Amino acid sequence: MMIPNWLHQRAKVSPELSALVGKEGQWTFRELYEASLGIAQQLHSFNIASGDRVALLSHSNEETVLFIHASWLLSVEVVFLNSRLTEDELEWQINDAEVEIVVVDDRVAQTPILDGVECLSYSTIRQAERKEFEVVELWEEDRTLSVMYTSGTTGVPKGVRQTAGNHTSSALASVLNLGLTDRDSWLCMMPLFHISGLSIIIRSVIYGMETRLYEKFDAKEAAAQITAGTVTAMSVVALTLDQIVRVIEEGNSKAHPTFRTMLVGGGPVPLDYLERAAECGLPILQTYGMTETSSQTATLGKVDAVRKLGSAGKPLFFNQIKIKGTDQAREVGEVLIKGPHVTPGYIGSQSNRSPLTGDGWLATGDAGYLDEEGYLFIVDRRADLIISGGENIYPAEIENVLLAHPAVREAGVCAKDDDQWGQVPVAFLISDQVSEQEILAYCAQHLARYKVPKEIRFVDQLPRNASNKLMRFELKKSL
Ligand code: AMP
Ligand code: MG
Ligand code: MG
Repeated sequence: MMIPNWLHQRAKVSPELSALVGKEGQWTFRELYEASLGIAQQLHSFNIASGDRVALLSHSNEETVLFIHASWLLSVEVVFLNSRLTEDELEWQINDAEVEIVVVDDRVAQTPILDGVECLSYSTIRQAERKEFEVVELWEEDRTLSVMYTSGTTGVPKGVRQTAGNHTSSALASVLNLGLTDRDSWLCMMPLFHISGLSIIIRSVIYGMETRLYEKFDAKEAAAQITAGTVTAMSVVALTLDQIVRVIEEGNSKAHPTFRTMLVGGGPVPLDYLERAAECGLPILQTYGMTETSSQTATLGKVDAVRKLGSAGKPLFFNQIKIKGTDQAREVGEVLIKGPHVTPGYIGSQSNRSPLTGDGWLATGDAGYLDEEGYLFIVDRRADLIISGGENIYPAEIENVLLAHPAVREAGVCAKDDDQWGQVPVAFLISDQVSEQEILAYCAQHLARYKVPKEIRFVDQLPRNASNKLMRFELKKSL
């Protein structure tokens, strides 16, 4: 299938619909197109052209949306750099991606300095001459449009290619599940350099739907928008869901009836959060996805929210999911995924390594199972598995129990090497005043003895990435 150059087509189809609302202004699709085209012509004056690859180092603001669309109007591959990376990490990714130009948001504090790499700031580009070019109106589906280095829980970061076909089929599969109304507006408080944020911008332009963009997560602001009914959908992770729910609970209010989709993914969601969110009238859709699948791959529908509590749902329409080495219901194994949303592979140093098995399945590295009705349950990342005295322990199960304790605000569990057991679980907690004994007694009530943490560490902060996902490998490093 050929895919129309998204914004070019959208501006023809529904120019006057609202596209983007943010602190700095608002844009219809026509305005978004015109502004982005201007920037595209300025980028072109630096000899950037269709098929080139550039890196983008930015914060998640409206100007960045314009620069992303400008790049795609030019049919350029964008390598999304995380603005929270250290200089060394940035350097590594820029070298690995073999880009010659890094486009830099003026708001980013430090600009990388690298031999043979030119950094162009937004303001420099916006002062340049415009050079006209012919928009590639139809994309081949295997054209790479974005590259994202995976958060890399272990080992070397891998630059994941996401093609026009990957993003388009992901957006279509999502809307077949969620539906679309002409009031829809998606609240984006996720970083645009992660797939959670970027996929909102892409759905917006494919559907003709509004994005309401915030540079950073803000629980009070999110709760205000959700209760006022200015937005109808939002993407969150467990931690940010909990923070929004707390604000709504404190205000004794409820989500506005037009708010219809709270997409919660990125990691396990404690049952306690799901129940409290439901009390606030938040329609929760648990979802499972990753950088390699250009966002959602399975999502639990609203009708099943209670009956299948804790499940990530069924595969979206175009996708297949199976468990490696078993057809047996409830048998835990590695989750395998197939579908048009799955990356064709990596760039740079990892380009020889395929993420796919011989028969074309994406090996996710996640442990999970399918129940009798084909609903997917993600158990945990396989790499985080704790093996203690021969027993398998998944940290998520322990974190779930800890988070249900009223004094516990955040919890992270990882393995610690142990002479007697091989490994034992250790818990890191952010909590209100509570004793270690009380926490351990609470765990003993809810967990088999070998799963009870051997050590509790009270901390002020847990290591999280820019999407607020817990990075357990950082916990392990701090032991
Ligand atoms: P990333 O590679 O940073 O895009 O993160 C994707 C990873 O997040 C997946 O491979 C899972 O380990 C985890 N993840 C995403 N959604 C869920 C979910 N619903 N439940 C459990 N883990 C999840
Ligand atoms: Mg990953
Ligand atoms: Mg709690």
